[in-house]
Amino acid sequence: MRRVVIVGASLAATHAIEALRQEGYQGDITLVGAEPHLPYDRPPLSKAALQDGPDTTELLLRPPQWYVEHAVDLRLGQPATALDPGLRRVTLEDGTELPYEGLVIATGSQARSLGPADQGVPVNTLRTLDHCLTLHEQLAPGRHMVVIGGGFIGLEVAATVRRMGLDVSVVEMAPVPLTRVLGDEVGHWFSKYQEGNGVRLHCGSVLDGMEPSSGGTRVRLLDGVSLSADLVVAGVGARPATDWLEGSGLALSDGVLCDSSLRTAAPGVVAAGDIVRWYNPLFDEEMRVEQWSNAVEQGRHAATTLLGTDEPYAPVPYFWSDQFDAKMRFVGRANAADHVHIERSDESSLVALFGRDGVIRGALCVNAPRQLAVYRKAILERIPWGDVVRNDG
Ligand SMILES: Cc1cc2nc3c(=O)[nH]c(=O)nc-3n(C[C@H](O)[C@H](O)[C@H](O)COP(=O)(O)OP(=O)(O)OC[C@H]3O[C@@H](n4cnc5c(N)ncnc54)[C@H](O)[C@@H]3O)c2cc1C
Repeated sequence: MRRVVIVGASLAATHAIEALRQEGYQGDITLVGAEPHLPYDRPPLSKAALQDGPDTTELLLRPPQWYVEHAVDLRLGQPATALDPGLRRVTLEDGTELPYEGLVIATGSQARSLGPADQGVPVNTLRTLDHCLTLHEQLAPGRHMVVIGGGFIGLEVAATVRRMGLDVSVVEMAPVPLTRVLGDEVGHWFSKYQEGNGVRLHCGSVLDGMEPSSGGTRVRLLDGVSLSADLVVAGVGARPATDWLEGSGLALSDGVLCDSSLRTAAPGVVAAGDIVRWYNPLFDEEMRVEQWSNAVEQGRHAATTLLGTDEPYAPVPYFWSDQFDAKMRFVGRANAADHVHIERSDESSLVALFGRDGVIRGALCVNAPRQLAVYRKAILERIPWGDVVRNDG
């Protein structure tokens, strides 16, 4: 193989490049990115970088020199618009056609919009460095921010700006935040924690509409509540950036469908990061995860698959979230748990375990880092639920 193209210049791509070179690949590497920036880190965008203002140099995943040392041909600010797997060719927005022998698809996720509700009023989203800069410039103590959506990004933004002295209201459709993924008990803990830090939560509330009003935005909820906002942030989730692959013949279904080694059905095409839906044999489940450590590991794994190995990618997923002083760490899966056990819960810490089909599958620890490794091992070894949780009916 002499020519690899990687589309999507971010976390998974950087680690794919690193693995290709470490494994001895000496051919061409072309990195295509829609954004004008070198690959940068996203988790700080809802945390320190939002508070202090994003520093483009500090956020870079690798310094500019690294791309020279790794002989990477950079095509930044140039989205890919089409893929022809038959001809093994990627087309860019300016009409450039890039032939490849190996292709890594790493175009990640993009923020969902509110749909018709955000017509005619300024609504912020938070996915890119430029979004973070735009949002940061609007932050000033005393201003009122309304966050639509009480998921992790919404709650992190709420925590960051509340600490900066803004008033914050979070509107969440579910009766408690995070409940869909983590269940009611965990959701209630985060509700209480956020409210204890001065964030106002409007749960079980559906957005009815928004309109401009005296220098800001009036946010109307279906239950009749009306909120006057200086700025609005939509934190309503992300969707895989697969638009450019429509018509390519690749199987797309909430992500790019891959086998357990991260290969697509097209010859020489693998995928990595937020965009991948693959079968994880450890959990006997097809999954797509939007998590930092997954993008790192999948970037590396997809690169070695491209070079000819055939190992299944079977990790215990891991992610973190920081809100005020709560450092949450999660390992495994919580979806469709048939048992949730609260191991510990107090004002500042929480440990919750998630079981399904008789084994432990997930563990959430807030300000309890040491337990995480123990539960990760238990998940990996598929330890019976009854051995991990002795007093759970
Ligand atoms: C604000 C924020 C906070 C986060 N915090 C955490 C956290 O605390 N913990 C955690 O585990 N995870 C967190 N994440 C998630 C984590 O950052 C992602 O899982 C990770 O960035 C995924 O990496 P990726 O390389 O797959 O894709 P992405 O980082 O989404 O990058 C994809 C890149 O592809 C580019 N692209 C898209 N379409 C095209 C195209 N057609 N042509 C060329 N380029 C294209 C995009 O512009 C983007 O640069 C956070 C994410 C965000 C946005």
